[in-house]
Amino acid sequence: MNDLVILRRYGNTVEAHIAGGLLEAAGIHAVVIEAAGFDPTLNESLATVLRVHEADVAEATAVLNASEPSDTDPQPGGDDVVRCPRCELEYCYFGRPRGVSSVPGAALWFALASLVGTTKRWRCTKCGHVWDDPEQGPTIPSQFAADDPRPVFYLKRARPGLGVFWGAAFGLGLFILLGSPPYSVLLIPTVAMVGWLIGRSYKYGVCSEPQCRARLRTRDQRCPQCDKTVAGTISTAREHYTAVAEVRREFTALREREEKHLQQGVPAPPHPRS
Ligand SMILES: [Zn+2]
Ligand SMILES: [Zn+2]
Repeated sequence: MNDLVILRRYGNTVEAHIAGGLLEAAGIHAVVIEAAGFDPTLNESLATVLRVHEADVAEATAVLNASEPSDTDPQPGGDDVVRCPRCELEYCYFGRPRGVSSVPGAALWFALASLVGTTKRWRCTKCGHVWDDPEQGPTIPSQFAADDPRPVFYLKRARPGLGVFWGAAFGLGLFILLGSPPYSVLLIPTVAMVGWLIGRSYKYGVCSEPQCRARLRTRDQRCPQCDKTVAGTISTAREHYTAVAEVRREFTALREREEKHLQQGVPAPPHPRS
């Protein structure tokens, strides 16, 4: 029992049990420990955990990853599926912006926006694209071939919030240390400000693949965790879907050109991959 380690956290106990069942079916001992009692804030914070033996972590991760197809790849669907013209994914709806964010500020913003009344339009929940003509997206999405390198992107992150937190804590410490001359209360916001500046300049990068998000170094050409090829830099998580679609379209176009050349018996131009 002692070497059971946390494999994943879930906000939803049903999902945790489904994952546990998948692992048991694959012969991996898994234990789901549910959040105690009903507490919505706890559930929000992913309090249900799935534990496995330490030795099974790699295999269990692989089993779970295989059961969750990457939502970056478009699913081949019927003609009636509306696809986003920008990222080609089928996660689109016709309506007003949804309060998808759990950030209170964003929820308030969405509440205000829906009061004022925003127009109903086609919206992509993945890349955030908004458009009007449902026919504008592709009927058949571009697909990666089996041997195409799958792209991920260096997703830039910064930590201004953390900087403010430590800055404020440090400022408070100074304030307490210095006794309480009236001006020293200004130390807290000043040092918090400095913390914010430091946090903002402390940039790091993660893998843009939504199911990976491993730390990347700027010189990494492959993600150390998901092993996909780092194909560029983006600054918001949503850009991932658009950027992947661009690479996918590029590969599709290249393949079409190669095929045309083959049919005409002309040697194809050198492929950038080789
Ligand atoms: Zn999209
Ligand atoms: Zn990755």
